[in-house]
Amino acid sequence: MRAGVRTRNESAWLLPNDGTRTNHRLRRDMRRFRDDDEVDLVIVGCGAGGSVLAQRLARAGWRVVAMDAGPFWDPDTDWVSDEAGSHDLYWTDPRVITGDDPVPLGSNNSGRGVGGSMVHYAGYTPRFHPSDFSTLRDDGVGADWPFGYEELRSYYAAIEQELPVAGEYWPWGDPHGYPHRPHPVGGNGELFLRGAERLGIEARVGPVAIANGRFGNRPHCIYRGFCLQGCKVNAKASPLITHIPDALAHGAEVRADAMVTRVGMDERTGRATGVHYVRDGASRFQRAAMVAIAGYSIETPRLLLNSASPRYPDGLCNEFDQVGRYLMVQGAPQTAGRFDAEVRMYKAPPPEVSTEEFYETDPAKDYKRGFAVQTVSPLPITWAEHVAAQGHWGRALRDYMSDYVHWACLGSLCEFLPLGGNRVTLADETDSYGLPVARFAYSQCDNDRALVTAAQHVMEDILTAAGADEVITIRRYAHLVGGARMAKDARHGVVDGTCRAFAVPNLYITDGSVLPTQGSANPALTIMAVAARAADQLISGARGRVG
Ligand SMILES: Cc1cc2nc3c(=O)[nH]c(=O)nc-3n(C[C@H](O)[C@H](O)[C@H](O)COP(=O)(O)OP(=O)(O)OC[C@H]3O[C@@H](n4cnc5c(N)ncnc54)[C@H](O)[C@@H]3O)c2cc1C
Ligand code: SF4
Repeated sequence: MRAGVRTRNESAWLLPNDGTRTNHRLRRDMRRFRDDDEVDLVIVGCGAGGSVLAQRLARAGWRVVAMDAGPFWDPDTDWVSDEAGSHDLYWTDPRVITGDDPVPLGSNNSGRGVGGSMVHYAGYTPRFHPSDFSTLRDDGVGADWPFGYEELRSYYAAIEQELPVAGEYWPWGDPHGYPHRPHPVGGNGELFLRGAERLGIEARVGPVAIANGRFGNRPHCIYRGFCLQGCKVNAKASPLITHIPDALAHGAEVRADAMVTRVGMDERTGRATGVHYVRDGASRFQRAAMVAIAGYSIETPRLLLNSASPRYPDGLCNEFDQVGRYLMVQGAPQTAGRFDAEVRMYKAPPPEVSTEEFYETDPAKDYKRGFAVQTVSPLPITWAEHVAAQGHWGRALRDYMSDYVHWACLGSLCEFLPLGGNRVTLADETDSYGLPVARFAYSQCDNDRALVTAAQHVMEDILTAAGADEVITIRRYAHLVGGARMAKDARHGVVDGTCRAFAVPNLYITDGSVLPTQGSANPALTIMAVAARAADQLISGARGRVG
């Protein structure tokens, strides 16, 4: 299997094996294009979606420039194994939040820098279920994708090999195995497995995109629990180490610290001509025959709206008022349980064990769709937020903090539904580039609230069955997707099933914004698989460069 992966993506073998974590020569010697070179493709954002697209098309011989607003990280010098010290990884530019149930933004919601949000994601990489692709048809809620699960199956398998993913055989959705065996389970996961077994709930170990054993020149995980701070070890997958090295080796340029401010358009032909961007304080323009946006669910719609022009007065691709709409976030309550024995939940990747038994619509329930339950293992600062949210302050807060090693914590991902009113628009406030910032309005529906309550009960039951003498729950959100969704036509979405914009024939969107539904699965693997599929279609000429 490994030889097969290497022929498709050599990233893991391009990393150094001398104890350092960055191939400086590859970065120093990468191909560099001039602004007035008309490259085949310029990509906005080097995260989950943008990096996969860059790697695939560079391998196919396309001349690619991939820009990112943030830095080209060096894990040795830029990252610290410290919860407070990882703040630089986040997109902290201002964003305005509103609606009945506003979603807090600005701390760890999304990333900035090469590797995107996956630099500090938790590493859990389940697939979507086949049912996620037709929730409107089958459940009467949500939306239907322009294609079905089977069109993504081979891309899921390919990306799982490239990351690689470790886990037990997965019995839910489309049952499948993983390329790496499951990791050993920490105290938190053991309690989940024990409680679930006592209740007759099936739970499994994995899937995590964390090397279990050596993979190329990447070492195995050392279970120190800092996945959400950027894994200094290089055991956890992120595009910075899984796709960008191979893209560079095949002639792509990664232009870091380059903030794209608008898409350049030929007002006469209606075709994209490149991107305007700011680097080192200078405004520049990169010419390109094709543009792909992969800036994350908030920044992608914002860039489209900020690219308004006389021909597109309401923003690019927004003729039918679809840009920014149907933005989704998963309801993500977390329930912690106290045990007499020490748990030390930090000593493992945070999500390790999960159940997807409650994923699909259960006709016996009064809500549609469902939720997944996973271990989550907050480090002390996050744990303090959890405790403080219960109203504990002063002495009580200190007592809970001192007791940290005795707590286990589970989290749910609830499939909140895509609603047209949950959307990004532009605020009056501007950022340091003088651009209007995103305004994100979010309100839950009754189905969303019912899912959170049901998920909380299941988590409390599991922890109590495992022997917890106290359980506490905090309600929160996770994972933003949608905002420029794919659909069958321009009246219902922004891009078609190949990720091509309906309105602009040489403009693609290849990040989490295109997802029409979100299931109860963490989204990164699906975002990468969708980008890999779009790349294949571009390469095979289904929608070639002349578009
Ligand atoms: C704390 C946390 C934990 C998570 N855990 C998991 C998990 O366990 N499993 C999972 O599947 N998912 C997880 N996720 C979600 C996952 O990381 C994201 O869904 C995924 O990375 C989104 O991919 P993307 O391509 O849409 O955007 P990103 O990966 O965020 O990439 C977007 C990139 O675009 C750049 N960019 C944006 N605007 C511009 C611009 N105008 N000009 C230039 N560059 C720009 C940004 O700097 C960024 O690097 C987690 C996320 C967070 C925040
Ligand atoms: S637990 Fe493993 S994957 Fe996570 S940060 Fe530590 S070494 Fe990296």
